[in-house]
Amino acid sequence: MMGRAHLMIGTGVTLSVMGLAGIPVTLPAAAVAAVSSLLPDIDEPNSILVRTVLPAGVLRVMQLALIAGAVFVYYYGQDYAPWNLFLAGLIGVVSFLPGRTLRHIVMFMIGLGLLQFGQAFSPWNTIAGCVLIISTLVSHRGLTHSVYAAVGWTMLLYFAAQGTMEERSLWIAGGMSYTLHLVADMLTNRGIRPLPPLKFRLRLKLMSTGSKWGTLVENVCIMLTLVLLWYTFIASR
Ligand SMILES: [Zn+2]
Repeated sequence: MMGRAHLMIGTGVTLSVMGLAGIPVTLPAAAVAAVSSLLPDIDEPNSILVRTVLPAGVLRVMQLALIAGAVFVYYYGQDYAPWNLFLAGLIGVVSFLPGRTLRHIVMFMIGLGLLQFGQAFSPWNTIAGCVLIISTLVSHRGLTHSVYAAVGWTMLLYFAAQGTMEERSLWIAGGMSYTLHLVADMLTNRGIRPLPPLKFRLRLKLMSTGSKWGTLVENVCIMLTLVLLWYTFIASR
């Protein structure tokens, strides 16, 4: 399913259910729901979430910096020949990699950086670092589309919000929105593998992403979500 549909359906349904159940719908809870609706696709370098954090402009700047770095290494490393040429060539090759590969590399590097330098600040940096590194190493719709990931994310939010005002709203918003993403992907013909390494696949084949029928189903689901939102927050008040 497309990111836009995930964002609208996941966030909309989550907030509506919370509203109907009397759970406070706060701004942080809404933000967590929105991020959680896109989070499972973090292993896809062209997904909305990754493109938002690492937009094409940032990648361009990085490519230029890498090319400048390669030139620098070549000129100032001449004492170490032929290694300067070797290293400059390597940096040059990285700078010309396609966007999605570059994003993968950047995500991996940020993950390593968080692990290396983030520990002093908070244990959450370690967790975020691990999430980033693992997500670059697993295949799309692998581990992030499993029951483990949904449970892990929900527990993470549960413990992170302990003792704050958002105690209940956050983990319910995040857990529900993340799970809704998996349910939505379950409807597509690729489906998900909820319990890897078991090969068992949940797949309802109701639609294929990108096809005319698939887009129609997505739009109908988005409309229903808007109706639900309208009912919950306007009509029933
Ligand atoms: Zn997905």
